[in-house]
Amino acid sequence: MFNKRVKIKKLLATEATGQEVIVMGWVRTFRNNQFIALNDGSTNNNIQVVIELGQLDDATLKRITTGASLKVTGTLIESLGKGQKVEVKAGTVEILGDCDPEKYPLQLKNRPSLEYLREIAHLRFRTNTFGAVFRVRHSLAHAVHKFFHEKGFVYLHTPIITASDAEGAGEMFRVTTLSMDNPPRNTDGSIDFKEDFFGKSTNLTVSGQLEGELGATALGEIYTFGPTFRAENSNTTRHLAEFWMIEPEMAFSDLEDNMNLAEEFIQYIIRFAMDNNREDLEFLAQRLVEEEKALPQDKRSEFGLIEKLEFVLNNGFERITYTEAIDILLNSPAYKKKKFQYEVKWGIDLQSEHERYLVEKHFKKPVIVTNYPKDIKAFYMRQNDDGKTVAAMDILAPGIGEIVGGSQREERLERLEQRMREMHIPVEEMNWFLDTRRFGSVPHAGFGLGFERIVLFVTGMTNIRDVIPFARTPKNCEF
Ligand code: ATP
Ligand code: MN
Repeated sequence: MFNKRVKIKKLLATEATGQEVIVMGWVRTFRNNQFIALNDGSTNNNIQVVIELGQLDDATLKRITTGASLKVTGTLIESLGKGQKVEVKAGTVEILGDCDPEKYPLQLKNRPSLEYLREIAHLRFRTNTFGAVFRVRHSLAHAVHKFFHEKGFVYLHTPIITASDAEGAGEMFRVTTLSMDNPPRNTDGSIDFKEDFFGKSTNLTVSGQLEGELGATALGEIYTFGPTFRAENSNTTRHLAEFWMIEPEMAFSDLEDNMNLAEEFIQYIIRFAMDNNREDLEFLAQRLVEEEKALPQDKRSEFGLIEKLEFVLNNGFERITYTEAIDILLNSPAYKKKKFQYEVKWGIDLQSEHERYLVEKHFKKPVIVTNYPKDIKAFYMRQNDDGKTVAAMDILAPGIGEIVGGSQREERLERLEQRMREMHIPVEEMNWFLDTRRFGSVPHAGFGLGFERIVLFVTGMTNIRDVIPFARTPKNCEF
């Protein structure tokens, strides 16, 4: 029976020595034929298993190698060595699975690079860095549900396959069962999607928002938390082709309610990780310090990871309008010294360099930018009275850039239809969406937060490929 085992995290916190325990895990190191550092993934801290000299035969000792899996039955005793309070005095040691030290890729004496570990992503969970990252990711995911549940939001499972391409959030992946070699064609040569599985052209979702609005305008407040897909051919450290997005949508809400919710939400999930993953975050903070040693002084973070997170918890986010943001950029020393690669003027979509300037140089904290020009934003955003801007909000975070995109939604049917026509969005195909505005329309608002971007922020990792178990990016779909 396996479930008698005690997880190492729990064992390390136990004071009651003298009891018989069963531990199982993978060998991290084995010293002097006596001391095994055993890890089971519950924490980065290993339990030390002590074997008496002569207790095991030579053949067994040889099989205790890094990566091998063991079942140890023994007595929990106070540790004589430094670094741990308790250790296990081995009674029996059973080898569950051997691990050939000649072949095991994590045998390397030198610390493997993150790039190399991406190539062996199927094994990287076994390293301290990825153990910590994925335990933190888990906590953040749990906190997402906890937060919305406590607020009375309904978790709505919006579809993964959609026929709507109106959102326009990004390039889409097609879903089809048609033959690639010989698809059925219309007389004009175009592909006949009536023959396809759904009888029409379908794609993987880029956002659950439109369906989310349908839920919110009846259930009141909903959120989605699921995978989204964007075939964007941008190989950056912040974009994945498959990522997880959290999208709350609230009836009876305006832009300010939306900003308040987003800020409270981000602080809540960070606090949850700080309270529940302190050890892992401290490990990651140290990792970041080590990583940044290779960088020139002016490229290193000003604060440590923990200080950064504490700062975000203890300070409100800066709130500025897009127009104010443009003014700040135009008056910045960076602009005057021609340091920006992209043009700055009212109407531009803020580029990453502009966002980073605002957040990292000017305000030195997360910034919410509101009221963007309508021409660079989606059709469903509520039109402001100035005729030029919409009630949009993006949240920009230090080191990451945009982590949230949201808006108050256009609830006035005529205004919405007119905007759709201007933007060449087929009004007829969107009747299901427009019904929310026909039958008891209400002011409502919502946002989308890219889950991996917040995991990046909290863990201090710098490449989005390192915070999702198996990254999908252009020309890369391993495992
Ligand atoms: P960006 O400008 O960074 O590409 P976006 O404007 O396309 O973002 P939205 O369509 O508003 O983003 O999506 C909502 C959120 O989803 C973003 O704020 C971001 O956190 C996240 N996000 C968007 N695209 C990606 C992606 N390819 N990989 C990971 N997260 C993403
Ligand atoms: Mn994008």
